[in-house]
Amino acid sequence: MSEQTAHTPKTIELATDQVQELAQLSSSVLAERYQQSLLGVFGAPRRVLVRGAGRHVWDADGNQYLDLLGGIAVNTLGHANPLLTSVIASQLATLGHVSNFFTSPSQIALAEKLLEISAAPAGSKVFFANSGTEANEAALKLTRRNAGTEEAPRTRVIALEQAFHGRTLGALSLTYKEKYRAPFAPPPGNVTWIPAGDIDAPRAAVDETVSAVFIEPIQGEAGVKMLSAQYLQAARDITREAGALLVFDEVQTGMGRTGSFFASAPVIPDVMTLAKGLGGGFPIGAMIVFGQENTAWLTPGDHGTTFGGNPVACTAGLAVIHTIESQNLLDQVRSNGHWPREQLAAVPGISAVRGAGMLTAFELAQANAPKLVAAALEAGFIINATDDSTIRLAPPLVITQEQLGGFLAALPPLIASA
Ligand SMILES: *Cc1c(COP(=O)(O)O)cnc(C)c1O
Repeated sequence: MSEQTAHTPKTIELATDQVQELAQLSSSVLAERYQQSLLGVFGAPRRVLVRGAGRHVWDADGNQYLDLLGGIAVNTLGHANPLLTSVIASQLATLGHVSNFFTSPSQIALAEKLLEISAAPAGSKVFFANSGTEANEAALKLTRRNAGTEEAPRTRVIALEQAFHGRTLGALSLTYKEKYRAPFAPPPGNVTWIPAGDIDAPRAAVDETVSAVFIEPIQGEAGVKMLSAQYLQAARDITREAGALLVFDEVQTGMGRTGSFFASAPVIPDVMTLAKGLGGGFPIGAMIVFGQENTAWLTPGDHGTTFGGNPVACTAGLAVIHTIESQNLLDQVRSNGHWPREQLAAVPGISAVRGAGMLTAFELAQANAPKLVAAALEAGFIINATDDSTIRLAPPLVITQEQLGGFLAALPPLIASA
């Protein structure tokens, strides 16, 4: 017996025993253990989850939940998707990690696939990272190279009010919320935020001092704030005119979430960042750099990562895209996504509904959103509050109308109670 086969089962068994022992404990004991061992940046966890299948997850006490948040727009194919889990396992059993001194067929295949589905022009290239914030860090580094000249330096970056781009220092410097940024001042960049959605704002702000403009095509964390196709096209025209680079952050909106692969299509930016849904739950981020002139901004040694582009993550990305294509999920997202928004608009206590595809937010006229989240959880539904009056839904793309209908039927009394 080889050393590997001798050790592998034992290691797994040990890990499983330890986890299984914990799974026997009550939720309150586990919450205590969590608080003793995990840094308190997330607050108290709402539940201890032990299993997922399709659109459902189960907690340590055996309660079932319909997952209408999908790990925050991550679990594209639902939980424990058989194809995704089997290709991840077989890739890991074949070749799990190599450094970026090497490449692998899955890395090249995913890069080629991303260039294909983003309609990237010849000469476009991909960089792989492990998360959304890392993809945005890469984009920020790339756009810093658009530095202008000594006499006319480009020292400013433009982002939108309410923007969310991540929590590492570079991405954080683009993020609008003062509460997230202020404790970690000073920021590394010189960022100006402009009102979202008003074409006159970038027209006035983007000049020869600006290196880049960062835009989420739909502002997810802000509560699914929509930007029009005309606005995205205007941003494209204005940045090109001013010599600034345009970055679309599609970390939340990409990979079929809105009913097309990218919410910004057909507008093509200079750089697009992806993460969340790309791996269907396996961590991966990506930066697509459009056009030969933009790929020249970063040269060997300018950026790097140990894990980024590893064969397992890239295989996960390929399986997600393959499933979206082979199961016509984009069509399904468009038809199933529209319907609940129409129904939600008619629910008493809801004052506004926004969204595209499987990304939806609704405003509560009176009810308290965090209270509604807690009540929905008690009733077996995972939803999310982006602020005190806004609820966001980002379920797996494969969720059915019947499952969405179950939530809609349960909603009126839950709103009344909140
Ligand atoms: C979630 C998110 C990020 C950050 O991604 P992480 O993987 O959490 O680092 C960046 N931009 C947008 C638009 C997001 O929704």
